[in-house]
Amino acid sequence: MALIVQKYGGTSVGNPERIRNVARRALETQSAGNQVVVVVSAMSGVTDNLIRLSKEVSKEPTEREMDVLLATGEQTTIALTAMAVNDLGGKAVSLTGAQAGISTDGVHTKARISTITPAAVHRMLDEGNIVIIAGFQGQTADGSITTLGRGGSDLTAIAMAGAIKADLCQIFTDVDGVYTCDPRVVPVATKIPEISYDEMLEMASSGSKVMQSRSVEFAKKFEVRFEVRNSMNNNPGTLVKEETPGMESVVVRGVSLERNQAKVTIDDVPDRPGVSAAIFGAIAKANVIIDMIVQNVSFDGITDVSFTLNAADLPKAESALNSILPGLGGKAQLRTQSGIAKLSVVGIGMRSHSGVAATMFKALADANANIIMISTSEIKTAVIVDEKDIERAAKAVHTAFGLDAVA
Ligand code: ADP
Ligand code: ASP
Ligand code: MG
Repeated sequence: MALIVQKYGGTSVGNPERIRNVARRALETQSAGNQVVVVVSAMSGVTDNLIRLSKEVSKEPTEREMDVLLATGEQTTIALTAMAVNDLGGKAVSLTGAQAGISTDGVHTKARISTITPAAVHRMLDEGNIVIIAGFQGQTADGSITTLGRGGSDLTAIAMAGAIKADLCQIFTDVDGVYTCDPRVVPVATKIPEISYDEMLEMASSGSKVMQSRSVEFAKKFEVRFEVRNSMNNNPGTLVKEETPGMESVVVRGVSLERNQAKVTIDDVPDRPGVSAAIFGAIAKANVIIDMIVQNVSFDGITDVSFTLNAADLPKAESALNSILPGLGGKAQLRTQSGIAKLSVVGIGMRSHSGVAATMFKALADANANIIMISTSEIKTAVIVDEKDIERAAKAVHTAFGLDAVA
């Protein structure tokens, strides 16, 4: 008998028929002689709707109350899924994150899991139940409801799989697995049979939202292998696991794109120690996460610094910087650009192969996409381009690395 965790995302529980589909699949898995834990998301659109509602009653809702509100999305789905299992003649019990023993820190809306005490889960499994757990939520030590950041049901499933030492963790979604690029953008993208944690992490954190990046981080740290599969069919999916020797022979595993980026440039900054510390200190204090940073060659003791961030954070960054610029001395001034996007190619093979940047830039040139910024890491090369060019650029780069499906 195996212990299996199955996670079903928003589209997979998007209407009553799909919830019954999930119930049937969980029952089939149990009937095959396994113990089954099901983690579910809110029905598709529900979380976004709740966010919209909150803005209609308050300009700045507190994060604590946002968590109380958003957790209701998943709570609805657990009850409905348990009802569907029971209706099909099975035995199911639903648990909120707190009831499932998921404890978190107190950072509302993006809490981190601190411990999982799965005694209740084990007991209910041993009683013959399919245990249905609300994704995306937990509870602080003093009993406040928390949520784990958008896409956080992936994290619930992987962390729970780790805590109960599951034999298998399956992430069911609305595509057949992890593809070489978002199949909605590049229809000729191909499904990746196996990918390393590091590659999945880089792809997730550079915009491939098929997995929440924090969940992949967790999976890597605690060595939780998982597969990504389609909830509507039985096609084999993608196995995400530790790196194996053969994996390095593939130079580029996948291409990611991230829209809604913005660039901030501070011109005429004095080139002396402490200036970057002041700039990025102010940004950090405003709780803004930044991505690429470029500082120019200085001339006559003056330089300029640019960085990118999520466009939604631009107003916060601007006000933080405007308050410190006068103190920097010189004539430092701010310029911003939105309507840009990031395109990344990812692969552990980049460690041992040269020419990745050259191939990528040639493809972008041929596609007439201008490069605004460039950054590289050991297993990733990323560029910023105009948002209107991003899909064309993604397709061209995907083709250039030989990733297109052959007809
Ligand atoms: P769920 O609600 O099941 O969590 P998500 O919407 O979070 O599903 O993730 C699935 C979506 O991720 C797909 O519909 C697809 O458009 C998108 N996606 C982005 N990049 C990729 C990729 N590289 N491979 C597969 N899907 C991707
Ligand atoms: N419902 C949450 C969201 O939409 C969590 C999840 O679906 O994973 O982000
Ligand atoms: Mg998701």
